[in-house]
Amino acid sequence: MTAYDWQTDAICAQTDPELFFSPDPKELQAAMNLCGTCPVIKQCADLRKQENHRYGIWAGQYYSDSSTPRTPKKRGLTPSFDHEYARDLAAQGIPRKQIAQQLGCTKAALDYALNPKRKTK
Ligand code: SF4
Repeated sequence: MTAYDWQTDAICAQTDPELFFSPDPKELQAAMNLCGTCPVIKQCADLRKQENHRYGIWAGQYYSDSSTPRTPKKRGLTPSFDHEYARDLAAQGIPRKQIAQQLGCTKAALDYALNPKRKTK
């Protein structure tokens, strides 16, 4: 018996694990809901804290580059957003609206990612 044996009872081990790290807020919410039915949620929360996992859904909470739970962004960019892939698609002439749909973000978020208008001091 190992310290990780409880993971065989984890709901996420019986579903698509990508759901727990999805860029789509709807999927993240679905993952959070699944955690609510998970029999090992306490062990999961303890493991996240011990190993300082900072991305995805853990024990029904969403983490994004922080040990503090956050609310999934509303179809904005997520830590897993692939800027290079988005630029490649745009370079192929694919309409940005279509790219945004494919990458699960809004067109406004994609526009920002491809052409950030950062203020300089
Ligand atoms: S509580 Fe943890 S182990 Fe259970 S489904 Fe959620 S992420 Fe997986």
